[in-house]
Amino acid sequence: MSKEKLYGKTLDELVAVTKKAGLPGYSAKQIAGWLYGKEINTLDEMTNLSKKMRERLSEEYEIGLSPPAGVTESRDGTKKYLFKVLSGKYIESAYIPEKNRATLCISSQAGCRMACIFCMTGRQLFQGNLSSNEILNQFRSIPEFGMITNIVYMGMGEPLDNIGEVLKSLEILTADWGYGWSPKRITLSTIGLKNRIREFLDKSRCHLAISLHSPFDDERERLMPVQRSSRIRDVIDIVREYDFTGQRRISFEYILFSGLNDTPAHVRELVRLISGLKCRINIIRFHEIPGTELKSPDQAEAERFRDALNKKGIPATVRASRGEDIGAACGLLSTLEQNKQKKLTE
Ligand code: SF4
Repeated sequence: MSKEKLYGKTLDELVAVTKKAGLPGYSAKQIAGWLYGKEINTLDEMTNLSKKMRERLSEEYEIGLSPPAGVTESRDGTKKYLFKVLSGKYIESAYIPEKNRATLCISSQAGCRMACIFCMTGRQLFQGNLSSNEILNQFRSIPEFGMITNIVYMGMGEPLDNIGEVLKSLEILTADWGYGWSPKRITLSTIGLKNRIREFLDKSRCHLAISLHSPFDDERERLMPVQRSSRIRDVIDIVREYDFTGQRRISFEYILFSGLNDTPAHVRELVRLISGLKCRINIIRFHEIPGTELKSPDQAEAERFRDALNKKGIPATVRASRGEDIGAACGLLSTLEQNKQKKLTE
C-alpha cells in the first residue's frame, strides 16, 4: 500500500498528522522545518525527532519527492522538465535563467478544461488536478532548486480551477514555517474565473496576471470559451476593488496573433478596458502549434503594438521568447510524451 506524502502539507495538516500518529504537538513545526527548510529525502534524516517517533511516522508516511521523468534543454539555457503525475499523466515545468534572476514556471493541473484554441494543454482536455505535493515537487525536485528566484503559476492548467491545492502551495511557499518567500516573488496567472478570483486575492498577497488576449467580447470568446461564463469586463470590475498601487502587482498577458488582435482598434479598446488600473501589459508572441491557422507575429509587429500602447500611456513590454528550439508552447512536450507512452502500450 502506498504511503501518504508529507511534502506539500501545510502546518495545520502536519498538526493533524502528528495527532494521528500520537506525536507531541510541537513536532509538527519540527517536521515542517525539515520538509521546507532542509533538503532531506527520507524521514530518517529528521534527527531532532526521536527514533521511535520517526518509526511511528514511517509506518504511514513518506517524504514523497519525485525526480523529473525527463528534461530538454534549449540553446538559450531554458530547461523544460517533465514530471509523471496522477499515475501515468505528464506535466511540464520550465526553468528560465536570466542575468539576475531564474524563474520557474510551474503547472497546476494535468491537461486543462478551459479549451483555449491556441493552447496545446487545452487539447489534452482535463486529466486531473495536481496536489500541493505535485505542484511544489516541480520546484523542490529539479537540480536548480537553490537557484530559483521567482515562481510563476503559468504552466499547464488553470490555477484557479484548482484553487484549494494552489492556495496550499502558496501558503507553504510564503509562510515562516515554510519556505518563507516574499509573495512578491510569485505570480499567479489566470484566464480570469470570476467566481474564484476574489478568493485568491483575499487569501494570498502574490502578484496576479490575467490572460486578456482580446478586448472584444466575441473575439475573446472565440479564442477563450471561458469568456462566456467569465466576461473579462466582470473580472476587471472585481479586480478594481483591490489595491494594486503598492507592493502587489497586476498585469495582463496579451498573446499577439498576427493579423488578428493587433490592430489600432484593439489598442483603443484595451485602453478603455483597463483605464484607471495601475497595471502593465505583457505582450507574448504566439508560438505556433500544429493544427491551427493562428499566426505568429514577428518581433517587429509585436514591438509596434507595444509602442502603440505605450503612446496611450499603458506600460507594455514584449516578453522575450525563451526555449523556442525545444517547443516553447506550453503542453507540447507533455503531449509528445503522452503520445509516445500510448504507442508503447498499444
Ligand atoms: S491557456 Fe491556460 S487556461 Fe487556456 S487551455 Fe491552456 S492551460 Fe488552460
